[in-house]
This record gives sequence, structure tokens and C-alpha cells, in this order.
Amino acid sequence: MLQVKYAAKMPNAAPTLKVRPVRAFSDNYIWLVESPSDPSRVIAVDPGEAAPVIAELERSGASLAAILLTHHHPDHIGGVAELLGRGAISVIGPADPRIPVCTATVRDTERYDFADLGLGFEILAVPGHTLSHIAFWGHGALFCGDTLFSAGCGRMFEGTQAQMHTSLTRLRDLPPDTRMFCGHEYTVANLKFALAVDPGNVDARAYLDSVEQLRARQMPSLPSLLSLESRVNPFLRCSEPAVRRAAERQVGHPLDEPSAVFGVLRAWKDQFR
Ligand SMILES: [Zn+2]
Repeated sequence: MLQVKYAAKMPNAAPTLKVRPVRAFSDNYIWLVESPSDPSRVIAVDPGEAAPVIAELERSGASLAAILLTHHHPDHIGGVAELLGRGAISVIGPADPRIPVCTATVRDTERYDFADLGLGFEILAVPGHTLSHIAFWGHGALFCGDTLFSAGCGRMFEGTQAQMHTSLTRLRDLPPDTRMFCGHEYTVANLKFALAVDPGNVDARAYLDSVEQLRARQMPSLPSLLSLESRVNPFLRCSEPAVRRAAERQVGHPLDEPSAVFGVLRAWKDQFR
């Protein structure tokens, strides 16, 4: 249902959104989204650090028009105050006292439009990694912070396994040609776990080969595609018999609900090396 609703709003003929990565800390990505109507203006998603964003703005000659925040963790919001010191711009994020820098807050099912930039995003509440975590979906792109990673998902710091499983299922059910921009470069480690869960997954094996080649050249593995994630990401495949059986072997008893399979996978991944 969700897929139909969003697909109806976003025709496939829309030009591909230009998004570039800015590396921060050891493995974070801050995403810079170019305005389709004025390529010299960009929106930054989850600027945990200001310095690399400022360096990229100076290198490219672009100006920062707005900031989107998915959740309150310092490696996603830590650069906001310094970036605001360079000029007043809007900061859009979830209502959470731990994010005092927002100029506007957004909630599940709302839409936020930047009319002057030709950009607009649907908001999805995706609790689990944190309770107020949100994702932004628009123009065939998903900015999902630390909820969904390529071939993996975020740790559950605040939510329940049922909440996190529901959040991931909502993201999985967006249109399959959605490009997924997440907050960290964890893809290789995630695929090693995915293959421990589901060793016969030929798509995951081929994806690991291609990602290892990219990473050897220091290239980002991202964005990913939701159509690929639905084939390789065990956390989106909790109803698949091979994934369920692997989770059941891990705990030694049957698991009836996909959310229970998810809970076992998440705990297994937490201690997987
Ligand atoms: Zn986080």
C-alpha cells in the first residue's frame, strides 16, 4: 500500500537526484543533495562534522541551503552548530529535545518541501536505532541514517525488536528502484554476516566481490538500491525460509514471527566477528 502511495507521487520519469558523499570520522557519510533547480545550492544530510562539509563547499563553490537530520546521535548532528554559524539556514529533523538545533520538526507521513530548491521529501518514522529516528524519501532517494545499512541495519539502542522490524519493513516496501543513502560504510562487514546467515545467497556473494573491489580503491559502496537490498540484506528477509532456518539454528527452537527472526539476527550480528 505504501509503495503504491509513494509511487503515485513520484513518476519514474523524474531526473536522477544528484547526491555526493562527504566522508566524516572513520566511516560516516554526510550526503550533499544538489538542488535540481540550482545546482550551486545543496542540502546536507546528517552533518556530524562541519569541517569536511565546509571543505567540499569551498572545493565545489556550492552553498549550503538546508540541513536534514535523521536522528540525534553526535556523529549525525555534531557539525550543525558550526555550519549555522556561517549563515542562517533551515534545519529539518524529528521532534526530540536531544536535537535542539532544528528550525522545523517533521513527523511520520508528513511531507517537507523546499520550493525554492525544487526538492521535497516524505517523512517516515523509523524507530528502533533511536526512538525518534526518521527517514527522508523523495526523488527516488532514501536517506535513512542508521536504520537501514547496505546488507545490514543499525543497532537497536532504544526501540524494541518489533519496532525496528516494522521500520525496516516500511523501508523495504518503498519502490524497488529507490536509491538508498545510509549513514555508514559498513557494507563489507555486513555482507560477511549476511553470508554467514545465508551462505547460498549468490547475489550477496557477487555483491561482496564488487564492493570489495570498490573499497580497495577507496570508493563508497553506496548508494545501494532497495531492489538489491531485498535480495541480500538478511534483516529485510526475515520471512525467507533460509534466513528463518538459520535464525532457528542459532537459538535452537522454532521462530514463528518474522520479528522474532529479526531479533535473533540482530543479537547474532551484535556479537559476530
Ligand atoms: Zn546513530
